[in-house]
Amino acid sequence: MNAYKFAQQVDIVHQRASELNTQAHSSSLPPSPLLQESLEELNTALEELHVAEEELCQQNEELLATRQALELERKRYQELFDFAPDAYLVTDIEGKILEANRTAANLFKISPKFLKGKLLVNFIPENQRRAFRCLLSQLRNLEQIQDWEIHMQTREKLAFEAAISIATIRDEEGNPRGWRWLVRDITIRKQIEEQLRAMHLQNLQLQEATKLKSHFLAMMSHELRTPMNVILGFSQLLLRPQYNHFSPQARSMVERIVSSARHLLALIEDILDFSKLEAGRLELKLEEFNLAELVTTVTEELHCLAEQKKLTLHVHVQLQNPIVVNDSNRVRQILINLLSNAIKFTDMGSVTVEARELTQDRIALVVKDTGIGIAEADLQQIFQEFRQVDQFLTRKHSGTGLGLSIVDKLVRLMNGAIAVNSKLGEGSTFSVQLPRTVAE
Ligand code: ADP
Repeated sequence: MNAYKFAQQVDIVHQRASELNTQAHSSSLPPSPLLQESLEELNTALEELHVAEEELCQQNEELLATRQALELERKRYQELFDFAPDAYLVTDIEGKILEANRTAANLFKISPKFLKGKLLVNFIPENQRRAFRCLLSQLRNLEQIQDWEIHMQTREKLAFEAAISIATIRDEEGNPRGWRWLVRDITIRKQIEEQLRAMHLQNLQLQEATKLKSHFLAMMSHELRTPMNVILGFSQLLLRPQYNHFSPQARSMVERIVSSARHLLALIEDILDFSKLEAGRLELKLEEFNLAELVTTVTEELHCLAEQKKLTLHVHVQLQNPIVVNDSNRVRQILINLLSNAIKFTDMGSVTVEARELTQDRIALVVKDTGIGIAEADLQQIFQEFRQVDQFLTRKHSGTGLGLSIVDKLVRLMNGAIAVNSKLGEGSTFSVQLPRTVAE
């Protein structure tokens, strides 16, 4: 009986009691003490009933409020369940769907009300159903399975790949009663994985091709170097006085053979170095040497080149301790490349070489010129192999576009860094930082 009905009943009893009371008082018969006592007891009982009724009403209101709160909470959970990013399903032991959220209905492209009661196996492609049933029978002995990847299908038999996690629902005795399924569509993830795999394979093939190319270049350069050295050697011999019976015209021809052979040999050396560096096969021959002496010698060697172009060549060596551990030939190569570029791309003004200590362990080599400079957009490219800022201009100056790429790779191999600062028409500054002692 609810509180309202109870209150009505109490009122009826109360009314009946007052009537009895009135009748007893209006009767001409003398009042019986027993009746009097009974009436008083009835009144007391009625009072108590009133109190109980009020308490019941209060409890009733509290119950109503709790029920409303519970309903709100249930709705909230239902929404969370429905709008969860993954599909959630509850099935019985035969795989019949008892509960499913909206995401599940969307995933299988079916209206939620039709999903309930369906067998989950309906959403497995036919050729995989046997394996799925087999899994269902194995499931009875397991507590849970995580991230099992299977093929599933929508109601219209559109296949997709899914990752599922399953947890067993058990009754109080521990017997399996059903399963909770979490199903996630991983088709896109799988596609990305496949693309990544293909890219990785492509990358490996590219690396292999690069290795082959470097090997081929190294072999070719080596094969070319030998006859080139012979041509250079014999043509230089021809210029010696004891063989020199040539007319001035013939001598000039031999001189051109020598200079072209030198040029070609330098190119071959560059290609050889580049391919070795690219294949990671170039090893530094570390030794202790005097860097100040090396900088001065290299500058002297290139002095006549600068002089030919009427450029002033400055050298500033400010090394408190000039002894370094590095590959002297390779440091020489770096300096020659930077210096000859500076001279090559400067028509007026000066070229300056600087060597100084940055810290006790780091040394800076700086080559500065007042030449044509490099536009900001081209600065990133000049260290890339075969890159020349202005092909036409560079044709005028000759070169392969390998010099800076070799310098960059060598500096890195030495654990150093290279930077360039330049403005078109205002000259360039190439700064190389090297450790005083290059690690083995
Ligand atoms: P290259 O054999 O063409 O000199 P490098 O790799 O040494 O090849 O240089 C790449 C390009 O960078 C050059 O072609 C030139 O355009 C630009 N460059 C290099 N050094 C300088 C410099 N000191 N001043 C202006 N441009 C330079």
